Amino acid sequence: QSIAQGGGQLQFYSTEINERTLSRMRMEADLRRAIAEDEFKLLLQPKINLESGKIVGAEALIRWHDPVRGLISPVEFIPVAEDTGLILPIGEWVLREACNTMMTWRKQGIDLKMSVNISARQFFQADLVALVRSVLDEHKFEPSRLVLEMTESILVDDVQTALVILAQLRSLGVQISIDDFGTGYSSLSYLKMFRADEVKIDRAFIRDVTTSREDQALVYAITYLGHEMGFTVCAEGVEDSEQRDYLHKIKCDEYQGFFFSKPVSHIEFSAIYHGQEAK
Ligand code: C2E
Ligand code: MG
Ligand code: MG
Ligand code: MG
Repeated sequence: QSIAQGGGQLQFYSTEINERTLSRMRMEADLRRAIAEDEFKLLLQPKINLESGKIVGAEALIRWHDPVRGLISPVEFIPVAEDTGLILPIGEWVLREACNTMMTWRKQGIDLKMSVNISARQFFQADLVALVRSVLDEHKFEPSRLVLEMTESILVDDVQTALVILAQLRSLGVQISIDDFGTGYSSLSYLKMFRADEVKIDRAFIRDVTTSREDQALVYAITYLGHEMGFTVCAEGVEDSEQRDYLHKIKCDEYQGFFFSKPVSHIEFSAIYHGQEAK
C-alpha cells in the first residue's frame, strides 16, 4: 500500500466525520427553528386490551415536519435533541400537547390513559417532577391517567438518582412504564426495584413470535413473570392477527401495532374510537 493511498484513506475518514458534524450542526439549527416555528405534531397510537379488543389508551409519538426536508423521524432527531439539550423544550411541548389532547377527548366522552415518552436528559436534568406537577395542576384529570414511558437503560444509568425521581413521580400519582423491555439490561429484578406499573415488550421480540420458539419463550416468560410481579404487560409492534392471537393466548394484557392502527392525528383517533364503540 502506498503512502498516497493511506493519505487518501485518512482524508476520506476526516471528510466523513466533518460531514456528520456538519449535518448534526445543521439539524441543531433546524431544530431551534422548528421549536420557534411550531413545526412539531403529535400523533397518537391506540393501545388495545387483548381480552376486550377495545382501545384503552394512547401513546403520544412526536413528528417533525421540516418545510424543506419533509417528515423527519424521531429516531433521527431525538438523539440530536438529547445531545443539545433541545429535548427539554421539545419534551415539555409533548407533555403539554398530550394533556391538551386528553382534555379535548374528554369533552367527546373519550376517557383514556395517555402515555408519553421521556428521554434520559428529560428524566435526569429537567425538573421533570415540577413540570409534571404543574401540568397536573393545570388539567383536571386523574393523575393515574398519565403514563410516563422510559427505557430501563435510562434508569440503570444512575439507579440511586432514578429511584428518587421515580418515587417523586409516583407520589404525584402518575404511572411508570418500562419501554422497549428486553433490549437493555432486561433484569426483571430492576422492574421490581423501579416499581413500574407497566412493562412494554420490545417489538424486536414480537416480530417473529409466531415462528420463533425462542421469541415465543421470551415473550411468554416476560408476560408470566410480569404478571406474577403485578405489572400490566403490553406488547409493541403487533402487525398481524397471528401475533395478536398468540399474545391473547398467553394472557398478555395489551398491545399496540400497525395491525390495529398506525399512529394517527387526534382527530383520526377519535373517529377510530367512536367507530369501534358503535360496533
Ligand atoms: P417507542 O416509544 O418504542 O415507540 C414505538 C415506535 O414503534 C413508534 O415509532 C411507532 O410508530 C412504532 N410502531 C408502532 N407499531 C408498530 C408496528 O406494528 N410495526 C412497526 N414496525 N413499528 C411500529 P416512532 O413514532 O418512529 O418513534 C420511535 C421512537 O422515538 C420511540 O420508540 C421513542 O423512543 C422515540 N419517541 C417518539 N416520540 C417521542 C417523544 O415525544 N419524546 C421522546 N423522548 N421520544 C420519542
Ligand atoms: Mg414508547
Ligand atoms: Mg417502545
Ligand atoms: Mg420499541
